[in-house]
This record gives sequence, structure tokens and C-alpha cells, in this order.
Amino acid sequence: MKREVSLEEISDGRLYRGSDMVKADCRGCAGCHACCTGMGRSVILDPLDAARLSLGLGASFDSLLGSRVELNVVDGIVLPNLRMEGEEERCSFLGADGRCTVHPYRPGLCRLFPLGRYYGEDGFSYFLQIHECPKRDRTKVKVHRWIDTPEPAKYEDYICRWHFFLKALEKIVEGTEDEALARNVSLYVLKVFYRTPYSGMENFYSAFEARMEEAERLFQLV
Ligand code: SF4
Ligand code: SF4
Repeated sequence: MKREVSLEEISDGRLYRGSDMVKADCRGCAGCHACCTGMGRSVILDPLDAARLSLGLGASFDSLLGSRVELNVVDGIVLPNLRMEGEEERCSFLGADGRCTVHPYRPGLCRLFPLGRYYGEDGFSYFLQIHECPKRDRTKVKVHRWIDTPEPAKYEDYICRWHFFLKALEKIVEGTEDEALARNVSLYVLKVFYRTPYSGMENFYSAFEARMEEAERLFQLV
């Protein structure tokens, strides 16, 4: 999602790599669930998030739609995001005790917070959002440790691959007046990358890559 703010306004002015230490560790977030409420449509799921949640919960992606996950248009493409509910706009996975009920398979953006990703021409760096997390006594932690996702180098390659693929599709959708084409792009993305189940997290990246290669051929991106 495009954000119309400068990095200086929202960060400590530094860009981080995965091996860097950053003051992000909220040490269990005790008593706080600020980033699990009022997030609107911003917790967008990528295919790995969908697979991780689906496999972790033993529920198909389709069965999560509506109750846990909703669809919205992000820069021209329909993508899933976590559904917030009630007056407080609580994430539907937030328990009554204020803890995440899907912590082991929570989405990538939940793992990242209060960090963000800053994309350049062919990759991204991490940055620390200084206005978002109210915990002021955060301690330093290695970025990759904070994100808590196995095979961090593969994960970062995957994040880039997905990001730049979506950017390429956005250009296709922006550049056409054919509404059917724009709709079909979104339907394809949802069907191939989200609704078609992944057999397990251990072979997620190879399954994703096979789907991606087919999509790139179809949309003539290679
Ligand atoms: S806002 Fe910060 S302290 Fe609160 S739950 Fe989120 S990451 Fe944890
Ligand atoms: S999935 Fe868990 S960590 Fe993420 S917003 Fe929902 S309750 Fe919070």
C-alpha cells in the first residue's frame, strides 16, 4: 500500500538490514494490544501469511473469508487483509485476554511491527516506526530475530518477489481501460496464490515459485 509520508516523519531516520540490531523488542507486549486494534484494512496478507494461517488453523483460505479475513482493493488489485470488528475495531484473532490467538502463525506484518519495509528499485530495507508502538522501554533485538520467520534470506527474497510482482500487475491494471482484464487479474491472483491450498510450509517457497513462474509467463512479465 502506498503511503504519502516521508521516512523522516515516521522513522528514527535509519534504515536497517536483517542482521542489524534495532530497538523494537516490546518483550511480550505485556498489557498492550494497540497494534491489534484500529488497524483498518492495513494488515494485508501475502500468500505466505495465507498459507501459514490456513495450515495453522486447519482451515481453508475460503473458510476464513468473511469472518477473519476480508477482501479490499489495494492499488488496483484485490488483496486479503485481517478483518477488524466491533466498536474497538479489534482484530478477529485477538482474544478476550488481549493476546493473539494465532501467535505462532500470525501474519508477517504483525511480526514486523513496529518495523516497516522501505522499498527501493530492487529490494527493501527495514525502518523503525517511531509513532506507532506506545511501549517506550523497548530493547534492542536483531531484525531477523524479531520477525521470527525461518530461513530469513529466503523469506526476504520471497517478500521482494511478491512486492515487485504486485507492482507489475498494478501497472497492467492502471494502464488498461478494459475492466474485465483488471477484474481477471485480481481473480487470478486470489485463485492461484491464495485460494489454491499449499500442502505444507516446508515446501511453500518451491510451490510459490512454480505459481509465480506460471503467472509471469501469463502476464508476460519475463
Ligand atoms: S503496539 Fe507495541 S507493545 Fe503494543 S502490542 Fe503492538 S508491538 Fe506490542
Ligand atoms: S493476528 Fe494476532 S498479532 Fe496480528 S493483529 Fe491479529 S491479534 Fe494482533
